[in-house]
Amino acid sequence: MSEDFRSTVRAFLETNLPDDWRGIGALTEEERAEFAPQWRKKIFDGGYLAYEFPKEVGGSGYGVREAAIIQEEFLRYGAPLTTHPNDSFFLKMCGPTLLHWGTEKQKEFFFPKAFSGEHKWCQGYSEPGAGSDLFALRTRATRDANGDFIINGQKIWTTQAFSANWIFALVRTDPDAPKAKGISFLLVPLDQPGVEVRPIRTMSGKSEFCEVFFTDARTSADMLVGPENGGAKVALTLLGFERGSGAAGTAMQHKMTLERLARLINERGLADDPSVRQRFGWCVERVDALDAMARQIVDTAAEGAELGPESSFIKLYATEFDKIMLEFALDVLGPDALEYQGARSSVEVGLEPKGSPLDSGVWIDNYHLSRAATIYGGSSQVQRTTIGERIMGLPR
Ligand SMILES: Cc1cc2nc3c(=O)[nH]c(=O)nc-3n(C[C@H](O)[C@H](O)[C@H](O)COP(=O)(O)OP(=O)(O)OC[C@H]3O[C@@H](n4cnc5c(N)ncnc54)[C@H](O)[C@@H]3O)c2cc1C
Repeated sequence: MSEDFRSTVRAFLETNLPDDWRGIGALTEEERAEFAPQWRKKIFDGGYLAYEFPKEVGGSGYGVREAAIIQEEFLRYGAPLTTHPNDSFFLKMCGPTLLHWGTEKQKEFFFPKAFSGEHKWCQGYSEPGAGSDLFALRTRATRDANGDFIINGQKIWTTQAFSANWIFALVRTDPDAPKAKGISFLLVPLDQPGVEVRPIRTMSGKSEFCEVFFTDARTSADMLVGPENGGAKVALTLLGFERGSGAAGTAMQHKMTLERLARLINERGLADDPSVRQRFGWCVERVDALDAMARQIVDTAAEGAELGPESSFIKLYATEFDKIMLEFALDVLGPDALEYQGARSSVEVGLEPKGSPLDSGVWIDNYHLSRAATIYGGSSQVQRTTIGERIMGLPR
């Protein structure tokens, strides 16, 4: 059955991708802008945009194993499963969280608008002084006479807030309660006078993330997700999805990166170099382990069990390994690693493991993305603490 399904996904990709398709990263910015809306329609109609969601909310209702095959095959073909940088904030984070915690009215309102692309989401967790120590957050929300929320405070590192029109935000609703017990999870429209989004310019010259300021910003009472003052649990449900989602895709992406690395090593005539062979062998071992872990996660999820703190394990393992593998790739590239050439792989494009091994742009971009990945979604140090305390049962 699963091989039949794999053939169906491949047939879809072969029929719908352009004939000369070389991967999303090979398109120029203009070509991507033209490709994205057409591709969104094709993957939505084909059942591949909302493939992980149940039919009741407008998804395709595929199970965990089918979802793993979809992720693997789209990666293999270099075809994106999202078409806008804000998509994953709903598809991988807020959407699955609403399935667990959202009201029927919230599901009815938000799912179709996120799938159509009308709503674009961002994540309002971090604040100055509340990153790893997330529940130290200070953004306040109080109720007005109608029960609606009035929000004051500041978020930071809000990825793609400049292109979003909704934010899911953690706010303090009971300042007197112990810090994790006075937090609520709110859905807030960004297009309103009380919200100011200021892009942060990074050393790359780009502005991927922003500061978001709330000054008497409003959201209605029915935009509360989960219990009032019980938002910490909702926040953790979402973080589980953020850290553990797409394990099969992660494993496939690493296998493809390893294949490109092998081709790069051969192209550079370094295949007989003992130190290169030793470093490459080490990477092969790690990718095999990652693949085994991903299969275990898919099997566990297919049996209906939820991914709990184990999501920290795959996040830590995959992201720390990436840094080492991509440093190795840049060593193999040598001076070419100083100049972007060929296909790219970035937040706007998504990961592009398909490009030619000689496209230095993909290697350099992936190297930079790998540095960020050990920080966002909870830093590696924080994941180690979670693993120690919640999986290994070590004292706090
Ligand atoms: C590319 C990128 C995109 C992001 N996008 C978003 C977004 O869209 N929305 C959002 O809300 N946030 C986002 N973030 C923020 C991210 O969640 C935080 O950067 C992260 O949680 C760490 O918080 P911090 O930066 O305040 O660092 P801090 O918490 O100040 O940590 C600084 C250092 O101290 C270490 N440390 C802190 N506490 C401990 C501890 N208890 N034990 C051991 N070590 C510790 C950390 O590991 C880190 O090395 C993004 C970050 C990046 C890099």
